[in-house]
Amino acid sequence: MPRSTLVLLACTAAVFTAGCARKQKPEPAPQRQQQPAPPQFSQLPSIPPPGMKYHRPVSLSSARVSRPLIALTYDDGPHPTNTPRLLNILRQRGVKATFYVVGTNARRYPGILRRMINEGHEIGNHTITHGNLKKMSNAKVRQELRGCEQAIMAATGFKPRTMRPPYGAISPAQKSWIRQEFGYTTTLWSVDPRDWQKPGVSIVTRRLVSGAKPGAVLLAHDIHKPTIDATPGVISQLQARGFQFVTVSALLAAQSQ
Ligand SMILES: [Zn+2]
Repeated sequence: MPRSTLVLLACTAAVFTAGCARKQKPEPAPQRQQQPAPPQFSQLPSIPPPGMKYHRPVSLSSARVSRPLIALTYDDGPHPTNTPRLLNILRQRGVKATFYVVGTNARRYPGILRRMINEGHEIGNHTITHGNLKKMSNAKVRQELRGCEQAIMAATGFKPRTMRPPYGAISPAQKSWIRQEFGYTTTLWSVDPRDWQKPGVSIVTRRLVSGAKPGAVLLAHDIHKPTIDATPGVISQLQARGFQFVTVSALLAAQSQ
């Protein structure tokens, strides 16, 4: 092919291509998703009071406090019917609790999480899939905690301050890097009524009440109906003994005073 024909063909191709390009409508600018502003500490509607500085340890099973404070904690929810019923009971009695939510449930019921925050409760991180952290790589643990944290923040704008490992399974090294990277105090418990074995309302009540002492962290599960049934009795009996129910962060704040 003569050189002039090649040049002509090249020019024709260039014009055609450019023409095609010109005919294309410009892509609409992608809509920027409105990201909620990161919450400021002073805006968090949780106890302890905004701006209060307190020591957040690597780990907590029970607190050293001089007053009869106690933390009631509920794991594995939210549950679509049991948790709202529990929130009604807590509201009627003026009790603040801490909920260690599972990420999959948090994504499914964000309205229940918002209600918890609006009513002065605390929400903690209980991972996305409720697996055994001790058997996971650091990368997988990070993914579990990050995912649940994002689900809680998407629902409430609130960044959790504490986490609870499923089954209480966690190594000292994991507690340490999680505190450093996420700022979380690993929160275990001092009283376990084994309510997940469904031993009956009166046994759950008795175990929780008899284990209580100042600074105790009581473990319960809001996915089990008998645990919700036991809650009014537990509250009445412990209030009669002079206990005041506070969130886990409030317990930590009281400990550092
Ligand atoms: Zn759990």
